[in-house]
Amino acid sequence: MSDAEQDPPFWDAKRLDQMSAKEWESLCDGCGRCCLVRFEDEDTGEVIPTRAACRLFDDATCRCRDYARRKRHVPDCIKLTPWNIEALTWMPPTCAYRRLHEGRGLPSWHPLRTGDPDSVHRAGVSVRGKTFSEDELEEIEDAIDHPAPELLDDVE
Ligand code: SF4
Ligand code: SF4
Repeated sequence: MSDAEQDPPFWDAKRLDQMSAKEWESLCDGCGRCCLVRFEDEDTGEVIPTRAACRLFDDATCRCRDYARRKRHVPDCIKLTPWNIEALTWMPPTCAYRRLHEGRGLPSWHPLRTGDPDSVHRAGVSVRGKTFSEDELEEIEDAIDHPAPELLDDVE
């Protein structure tokens, strides 16, 4: 029996800090939204994502090109843990880590529930095919001129 076939499944049975490394990693739905270049509005504190993506992000697959060694290429890539998720308020509301932390469970389109990695893209919550690399910008600040794509936040 796979982890996902257990009843209740691990994401309902365990707290985030009780999960194995494999379970933790499998929670990522592959939406790619945390790989977008973001700005913080100095006045409001609001974090505004853009359509520019991290140089290691592959727009076609919606995945990091070198996830295991990403810190070597992008030192400020944030490693999510059960202990920092609360502070990362800019994570999208659809993010599985944020959802579970807030007690909202996994949505019906989550790949762990569908068994299909493409279900996140069909649900309209991912950035696949909607970004360009930050390397195409002359200055990183220019990213602010490229608003993030319209994505669904409340699809269950
Ligand atoms: S926002 Fe969350 S679910 Fe989406 S890619 Fe990032 S960590 Fe994974
Ligand atoms: S290094 Fe990889 S995981 Fe980190 S932001 Fe860039 S593309 Fe995303």
